[in-house]
Amino acid sequence: MTHASETTRAGSTPARVVLAFDLDGPTGEAMVSGKIWQRPGYFALGAYGPHRAVPRILDVLRGHRVAATFFTPAWVARTWPELCRRILAEGHEMAGHGDRHEKFYGRGRDDQADILRRSQQSFRDVLGHRALGFRAPSGDLAPETPELLAEHGYTYSSSMRGGDQPYRYAGVPLVEIPAKSLFDDYSVFAYHRAPDFPSGLDRIAPYRPAFRSWAEEVEAAAEEGLTVSTIWHPKVIGTPGRTVLMDEFIGGLVDRDDVRVMRADEVAAEHGAVSAV
Ligand SMILES: [Zn+2]
Repeated sequence: MTHASETTRAGSTPARVVLAFDLDGPTGEAMVSGKIWQRPGYFALGAYGPHRAVPRILDVLRGHRVAATFFTPAWVARTWPELCRRILAEGHEMAGHGDRHEKFYGRGRDDQADILRRSQQSFRDVLGHRALGFRAPSGDLAPETPELLAEHGYTYSSSMRGGDQPYRYAGVPLVEIPAKSLFDDYSVFAYHRAPDFPSGLDRIAPYRPAFRSWAEEVEAAAEEGLTVSTIWHPKVIGTPGRTVLMDEFIGGLVDRDDVRVMRADEVAAEHGAVSAV
């Protein structure tokens, strides 16, 4: 990987903030294994995102006139097509996140390619176009994943967790927009029973300090002209109370003249993202 030049001179470049939502719904390991069909409570927990939280989040985004990116498993697009078309119609980006939220690391090349091919076909069927962006479900890429992403029409990934600015993969026409785990709402707000997830997390953080921490990261990013992406899940961040604070947080971004709120595909385009197919 080669890193693009990073600006650290105070005030020289506005920060870029990508409001990225991982619209997992009920997809994930339990769906990949089939166990979720015996666990209606677990299914309902995941379905809260598309069923209840996304309309609430869309209202907030519209109120601030900002556009966001929704990394969405193809199964969710097929299951809630009207909602996903509404997300698109309101100016947001729909990007890839596997079919049923499959892990890519540890998975064979042909299997990865098959998931990407089927996911892009679903996006074309439901939304009328393929996804440009991809976020690896459950964290990591396999070594051959970047090349496969480019082959299947993706121009950028937002899967890595190290880095303050986008960069290009060496030898592959793919931009990476790294996101930091501290912006993952699971790490502060998720506590799911049966199965317990995240394992070992025994409480939900108070809301306001968590949003204050994120605001402090953005403040410092603005001083250095960095790029920030959230890892927010509608089923986690989109409860009524958290949505109130998310509304305040986004309002704080919009008020700053040293921050640009952008979709991930817009950030990727600024780094020369082009389709290889
Ligand atoms: Zn996810």
